Amino acid sequence: MFNMSAMNRRLIKDLAKTMSKNVEHFDKTETECLVREFYVLLDVHVSPGKECQGVDRERFRGFLHSVFGMSRDTMMDGVFRAFDKDRDGFISLKEWIQGLSVFLRGTLDEQIKHCFSVYDLNGDQFISRAEMLHLLKDSLHRRPTEDDSDEDYDPAEGVKELVDMTMSRMDADGDGRVSFEDFQAAVKRSSLLLEAFGPCLPDASPVEKFEQQVFTSSYDDVL
Ligand code: CA
Ligand code: CA
Repeated sequence: MFNMSAMNRRLIKDLAKTMSKNVEHFDKTETECLVREFYVLLDVHVSPGKECQGVDRERFRGFLHSVFGMSRDTMMDGVFRAFDKDRDGFISLKEWIQGLSVFLRGTLDEQIKHCFSVYDLNGDQFISRAEMLHLLKDSLHRRPTEDDSDEDYDPAEGVKELVDMTMSRMDADGDGRVSFEDFQAAVKRSSLLLEAFGPCLPDASPVEKFEQQVFTSSYDDVL
């Protein structure tokens, strides 16, 4: 279990002080709580001069699943990529705080960036037709509709139609792929398009629960 010695507390305070310079939506105390939560999640001791790579994909997926109820692989992996800005396969402390700032309290513009990077599966700064197809197939596959009872209904055709429709709504310059600017403009026109390709932002109630648990627990609670 996580052990919070006086030494650790001081280190966490110092780390939080450094971190809070780079963070938009958390105050100093909240940042401190999130620094502590990072090490709780990692289940390691903070000690002077000890470098740790950060939270790996598996552990992060576990966190998304247990805290925010996410269960779709494509979405959880996408959120991991959105957090892992330097793409080293680990979420560092800085990436954790900055990622959570957007994930929990992001402005619309920050959320648009977040969702775009989740949906841009290969990270080439465009959402291609193939990526759209993959994301929507995955999302419709798990959502049985009344159409399923119709024998003539071909879900693959349905997805293709949906991709065509979405592409025509989003691809402003008609080059057959959605750039960040296309996506941003489309979401600004209709906010429902923010999570058009799958849920990758948390619902309000688990956010409230998580914040309550993390921001109100005292150091003694984790001893
Ligand atoms: Ca990283
Ligand atoms: Ca792409």
